[in-house]
Amino acid sequence: MKRFGILLTLSLLASSLVIAQTPLEDELFASVLGVEGRTHTERGEYIKGQLHKMGVGYVTAPFKNISRIKKDSVVIEGENIIVRLGQGTKHIVVGAHYDAFKNSPGANDNGSGVAVLLALIRHLQSVEWNYSVDFCFFDQEEANLMGSMYYVNQFIIPKKHLAMINLDIEGTGDEVFVGPVGSTNRFLMRYIHEAAKKNGSSLVEHSDYPGSDYQSFADYSLENISISIVPKGDGDRLSKFVHNGYKADSLDAPKVLSVMHTVYDRSSLVSPASLRMSYEFTNTLLIQLNESGK
Ligand SMILES: [Zn+2]
Repeated sequence: MKRFGILLTLSLLASSLVIAQTPLEDELFASVLGVEGRTHTERGEYIKGQLHKMGVGYVTAPFKNISRIKKDSVVIEGENIIVRLGQGTKHIVVGAHYDAFKNSPGANDNGSGVAVLLALIRHLQSVEWNYSVDFCFFDQEEANLMGSMYYVNQFIIPKKHLAMINLDIEGTGDEVFVGPVGSTNRFLMRYIHEAAKKNGSSLVEHSDYPGSDYQSFADYSLENISISIVPKGDGDRLSKFVHNGYKADSLDAPKVLSVMHTVYDRSSLVSPASLRMSYEFTNTLLIQLNESGK
């Protein structure tokens, strides 16, 4: 009985520890709720509304792509939302796609990235930037990375480009999964390692990495890295999944894939602590990158 009492007290304590959220976690989670299950247009409007509340200016860059598949023409339209801070010569891009996979509420993919990007803008808007920094909400990532591809073509001057940091899938677990490590992040990895050390993060890096908007930069050999927060072991599992041609061994399938692109990608499965971890890691990374420009 007594033992039961202790266990009960411990479990109540544990659950109260899980429930207690910091103001930053509340702020991050509110943004996931703001875009979850919304239409494509509503997701964009939510972002613009939040930027308006912060008093931060933005530009929108609409695009329309018409391609021919046999006799049919396929039209993909979208709108990137861009906040530019700082005026340095060299350029940093921090991006998260805001579109969601068809019929998915898109809470973790990628309401989580949107939430982190909004919080970064909110908290870093008065930093003295040594670079020009574009915080980009990319559209149509789920349509062959269309939004980021248009952004690179419209806004990137290769000799001025310093780094692109991509945020996609930030809402579960406590492992910082970065990649794809290789020829297009020779400069960035040092800062990634420093940020992990400073934040005490459990960092997993791989050269095989799931596709996302960073690829539009990698295609032009522009420095880039992608950051996700995933359940323990998922970094290795996701890397293996990509390495095997996007095929998963059912016994060792990456956990994040069980809900991604499905109707189950809901905020109830998103952890505020994971969002905070992504925010803190990226914040440290950006501040250290900024210091390098002094
Ligand atoms: Zn995504």
